[in-house]
Amino acid sequence: MKVDLKELKEEFSHNLNLDYDLKKKNWFNIGGKTKAFYKADNLKELIKFLKKIQNKEKIFILGAGSNTLISDTKFDGVVIKLTKNFNNISLHSEEIIVAGSAVTDKSLSEFAMKNSLGGFEFLSCIPGTIGGGIKMNAGCFDREFKDILVSIQAIDKSGQVVTIPANKINFQYRDSGLSEDLIFLSASFKGFKKDKNLINDEIRLLKEKKEQAQPTKIKTSGSTFKNPKDQSNKKVWE
Ligand SMILES: Cc1cc2nc3c(=O)[nH]c(=O)nc-3n(C[C@H](O)[C@H](O)[C@H](O)COP(=O)(O)OP(=O)(O)OC[C@H]3O[C@@H](n4cnc5c(N)ncnc54)[C@H](O)[C@@H]3O)c2cc1C
Repeated sequence: MKVDLKELKEEFSHNLNLDYDLKKKNWFNIGGKTKAFYKADNLKELIKFLKKIQNKEKIFILGAGSNTLISDTKFDGVVIKLTKNFNNISLHSEEIIVAGSAVTDKSLSEFAMKNSLGGFEFLSCIPGTIGGGIKMNAGCFDREFKDILVSIQAIDKSGQVVTIPANKINFQYRDSGLSEDLIFLSASFKGFKKDKNLINDEIRLLKEKKEQAQPTKIKTSGSTFKNPKDQSNKKVWE
């Protein structure tokens, strides 16, 4: 038997919306409704919500929606969006940054620059979140999430929190192989000391290259196709 979402609406109040239109929640502003849309402000609330759902509903985690096409057909499940506490970002040690999974790739790249940490420049060209980037091992200009990731913290849909070191993840080209059952909460990343001005120059250069191939103002989907297998490292930008 499915969960009585109307009953949950009383408990989770404005964080749970029923019969919710997803158009404004994705890059292309397309698609229809979902049976329920839940905004998780913090881990405690997320665990409470998952325990109520008891795996009886389909769950989809939405990041920035820049790699997701929302169907016109109503989604018969719950879409979860991580907010507030999942947006934190901090310097853990000299070369390690910890970022919540709702942090945008661009914010992580800017934070790294402010702290004179190189290696994150490519993120300034990807319009998604850390969560979405981990899921598909997002990357561009020969750099991918796997090159900077140290570990992820995640929760399974029954509410169990796990830490997974990057070397235990079977990253491939635009794929992490991570279970659909996992909701990523945060991740730690390693960079290297680099002059802020050099980082800034590189970001500017990458953005110029990207803008030439995939102009952001006209809402392209970035690359429409994946590169052929084993040819993803070829310099497709030149
Ligand atoms: C103009 C444009 C340019 C782009 N350029 C690039 C590029 O250069 N390189 C590249 O790799 N991609 C690119 N993309 C694609 C997209 O930006 C990336 O795939 C990005 O990483 C998606 O992140 P998102 O937060 O938008 O994910 P979403 O589209 O919201 O979700 C994508 C997947 O990740 C899962 N997910 C999201 N957050 C979590 C979480 N916290 N826990 C578990 N699962 C989660 C979702 O369930 C879904 O399966 C581009 C897209 C556009 C529109």
